Amino acid sequence: MAKIISGKEVSAFLNQKTADEVKLLNDKGIAVSLAVIIVGDDPASKVYVNNKKKACEKLGIVSFEYALPENTTQQELLDLINELNNRNDVNGILCQLPLPPHLDEESLINAISPEKDVDCFHPVNVGRLYTGTGKLKPCTPAGVMEMLKYYDIDIQGKNCVVIGRSNIVGKPMAALLTAQNGTVTLCHSKTKNLIEHTRKADILVAAVGKPKFVVKDMVKEDAVVIDVGIHRMENGKLCGDVDFDEVESVAGYISPVPGGVGPMTIAELMENTVTAAKIQNQVI
Ligand code: NAP
Repeated sequence: MAKIISGKEVSAFLNQKTADEVKLLNDKGIAVSLAVIIVGDDPASKVYVNNKKKACEKLGIVSFEYALPENTTQQELLDLINELNNRNDVNGILCQLPLPPHLDEESLINAISPEKDVDCFHPVNVGRLYTGTGKLKPCTPAGVMEMLKYYDIDIQGKNCVVIGRSNIVGKPMAALLTAQNGTVTLCHSKTKNLIEHTRKADILVAAVGKPKFVVKDMVKEDAVVIDVGIHRMENGKLCGDVDFDEVESVAGYISPVPGGVGPMTIAELMENTVTAAKIQNQVI
């Protein structure tokens, strides 16, 4: 039976560190703050924004919410981002995605000051990630790295296989594993004989966006399996991209859904907000 990689436990550990850092900064007269912009009434986005607000409250981070109507224009959003870029009392800016279709996400992300881009989506921060010079980290993949570190899982020289090449998860995941000296294979929907790659993985990260996609036969014995996926099943329960019940019997370590990568993403966002505050106050 695989050992469980608990995102609940690792995120609690990371959140405690973040709360301690916020307190240290507050003691120096520095407040830490995050501005969250949400446009429209998408229920899932509202839940995510609410969770981020709650996390801020718990850790002593000030949060500002900008809940804007569905018909907000591109220019109105650009003006708001510009105002937040220039405000000294705002350290991090996050624009909850997806935005309504009439808005151009890319140009809005590019308008956020790289120093306040706590999602690490701005091309400057993506470039810094690849050159190893970035201080802000892509939240979900950074959460996976933190989980591996917490459980003392060595990455150096290991065959790491990532399924999925999205800009938010797969690509930055491959970059972070490479930076830690993993030998990385990045798979996607055009990959031929996927199973031949996954069966060689010492560390397998599933970010494919398909429920229970990774089954037992695809996994090498004793591999570390990290499940980034999150899906609501017909019975109302959550599941990941990995068939947990099958794969648990062959893997060495496995992260569950829920209680795996999910809580790590918000914990990393909070850490990034503190990092942004440190950068802006030149205490890093
Ligand atoms: P995405 O943008 O839909 O990307 C999915 C990737 O999987 C694509 O690169 C796609 O390849 C690849 N893929 C699709 N079918 C495949 C197949 N049959 N074989 C191999 N590769 C295949 O998804 P995402 O945003 O990266 O998210 C992935 C999952 O993680 C989703 O379930 C999402 O809900 C979850 N997620 C969780 C968190 C969290 O905090 N836990 C955060 C973000 C995302 P192509 O590029 O060729 O199309």
